[in-house]
Order: sequence, then C-alpha cells, then structure tokens
Amino acid sequence: MADGAIAIIGAGLAGAACARALREAGRDAVLFDKGRGAGGRLSTRQAETPSGTARIDHGAQFLTARGEAFTALMEEARAAGSAAPWEGRLVSIDRAGNLEPLRQETRWTGTPGMNAIVKTALSGFEVRFGARVTKLKGGPGKWRVVLEEGGEEGPFAAIAVTIPPEQMIDLFARTNADFAEQIAEAKEAVLGPCQAVMLQCDPGFDPGFDAAKLYGGGVTWMARTLSKPGRDGAESWVLHASTNWSRVHLEDSPDAVIRALTEEVHVRFGMPLPGWAQAHRWRYALSEKAPGTHFALDETGTVGCGGDWRLGGRAELAWDSGTALGHALARA
Ligand SMILES: Cc1cc2nc3c(=O)[nH]c(=O)nc-3n(C[C@H](O)[C@H](O)[C@H](O)COP(=O)(O)OP(=O)(O)OC[C@H]3O[C@@H](n4cnc5c(N)ncnc54)[C@H](O)[C@@H]3O)c2cc1C
Repeated sequence: MADGAIAIIGAGLAGAACARALREAGRDAVLFDKGRGAGGRLSTRQAETPSGTARIDHGAQFLTARGEAFTALMEEARAAGSAAPWEGRLVSIDRAGNLEPLRQETRWTGTPGMNAIVKTALSGFEVRFGARVTKLKGGPGKWRVVLEEGGEEGPFAAIAVTIPPEQMIDLFARTNADFAEQIAEAKEAVLGPCQAVMLQCDPGFDPGFDAAKLYGGGVTWMARTLSKPGRDGAESWVLHASTNWSRVHLEDSPDAVIRALTEEVHVRFGMPLPGWAQAHRWRYALSEKAPGTHFALDETGTVGCGGDWRLGGRAELAWDSGTALGHALARA
C-alpha cells in the first residue's frame, strides 16, 4: 500500500466519486465494501428462476444527470458500454387511474445492470469486497480499519466513510476518537426504507406501459426489466412499495410483503399472480431529511463522511457528495 493512501469505506457511487477525486489530486485510494460487488444501492440481483437466469435491478431504477460532472460520468459509461438511456413506455398513474407519460428527460440505466455504472467508475481502483469495516483505530496519518472477518488494514493518511448514517453511527461509536458532530448530524438525517419485490408472471402480461410511478396505494413503482436497454435473460418485474407502506410493514415476512404487493397490482392492473417472486428489504433506501452540506470532517480533517444522505435522495447527489469529500481529504 502506497504511503499516504486514503481508505474509503463503501464502494457505492459516493465512494467511487471520492476515489476519483483523490486520484485526480494524485492520491492513492483503497476501497472497502461489505458487499460482494460494487454498486451499493445501484444493485442488480442475478436470480435463478423457473424460466432461467434473470438480472433484476431491485434498487435504484434509473439515474438522471443534471450537472456536468455526473453527465460526464454517464457519457463515459455509455462509451464503455455500461450505461444507456431507457426509452421505454414510462408513465405516471394517479389514484383515479389517469395515465400520463413521464416528462421528457434522459433516464440512464446501467447495462446489463445498474451496478455496471459503478463498476466503470471504479475501474483501476483497488477494492476489497466482503470487507465490513467495524472500527477505526489510530489517528491522523496512521489510521487503520478493523475488518469483521478479522485483521486490520493500514496505515492510512485519512478515511472517507460513505455508508448510510445509521451504519456510520455504529462504526464511529466503536471508535476511540471524537466524532460527536458527525454523529449528531447523522442522527438527524433520515433514509426511509423500501420494500421491493422481484417477480415473474405470464410473459404475455402487458398493462400498456413498461414502468409506472404509481399514486394512491402501497406500490409506488413497477417496472419490466427487459424494457431496459442491454438486458437479456428471463423476463421479470420489480415492484417498490412507498416509504410509508415500507415503514409500516418493515418487519413483515418476505412472504407477507410479496403477497400484499402482488395482490395490489393484480387488482389494479390485472397482473397475473407470480410464478416466482423474491422480496428484498431496503432498510435505508431514499433520503427524506438531509443535513444539506456535501460532507463533514472531524476536527483533525482526516476522517470525513459523505453519501446521498447528506444532500437528498438522488444518485447524482451521492456522486456530488463523494466528489467534494475526495477533494477535501486530498489535502489530509
Ligand atoms: C429502492 C431504491 C430505489 C431508488 N431509486 C432511485 C432512482 O430511481 N434514481 C436515483 O437517482 N436514485 C435512486 N435511489 C437512490 C440511489 O440508489 C442512492 O442515492 C445512491 O445509490 C447512494 O449511493 P451512496 O454511495 O451514497 O450509498 P450506497 O449506494 O448505499 O453505498 C454504500 C456502500 O457502503 C457499503 N457499506 C455499508 N456499511 C459498510 C461497512 N461497515 N463496511 C464496508 N462497507 C459498508 C454498502 O455495502 C454499500 O455498497 C434508490 C435507492 C433505492 C434503495
């Protein structure tokens, strides 16, 4: 490990942005993620179903790029074959059943799955997967990360923490240093939950749209996977419950969640009941209350935190936060 390298905890969009900002400033970065691959909430599940292998985006569905930096990342990913605009029949449907096309905007998806965008962003970086960081040790210039599986890594000049606030609070609480301000901000922030269902039904089912933002029920979003660009494999749909519904039903069993959400779209749109389904609970999905600043540093300026939870519930904001955090830590 190069002298003066910086550890980044979390290999989602914010972690990737932070790594790139550090590289631009001539600093080395090493990323640690508890998951099996890059992406975080830009997540694609590969599922074995009775109709074959399906790749299903059960987290973020599409990305919009309003600023220059994120637009440049989307174009870079498009050139690498890992992103493309979604040209499907995307609509919104109000509680009375009125259907309107979603407003014209480029909606990017990863290809062949959402996580491909983060993989592209992280190309050339050292990333340790299956590496849950449970504690930080040491201090400025000699930070170490302690891993759940045993062992520790370091020394690092600085640490960037790009994980959801509740998980960051746990991490800081186990660390013998003063993170009181960052913990206080994280306690105020809220990332609401989302219950998601991935399913397969009769492939002939066509409600007249490929994806819909829904109002007036527990299901707030439904989308047909194969309508996204660059997809192959078995047909599938994903359903997302609203934050309110998910909060009320957070501890329901996966079977109960599947039953409630699939019955709702069965009644509302005639979607056949699924032959195969899986539920996924996102305990921390979308930002509802954010501090509103891109990042925060401890008083030594060597441990910082970032992520979408600092700015709001859009992937682009995770990128912006991670970039700003990387620039700040490059000086550590
Ligand atoms: C259901 C759902 C739908 C969404 N829809 C959209 C959408 O349509 N459009 C949009 O723009 N955004 C959407 N979002 C939000 C978008 O996914 C996020 O804003 C963005 O992905 C957040 O990136 P991040 O890097 O801040 O965090 P994350 O992607 O959560 O990355 C954090 C990473 O940290 C890792 N981690 C956590 N704790 C530890 C630890 N102790 N040690 C090591 N690693 C750790 C995790 O494994 C994860 O990979 C959606 C999110 C969800 C869940």
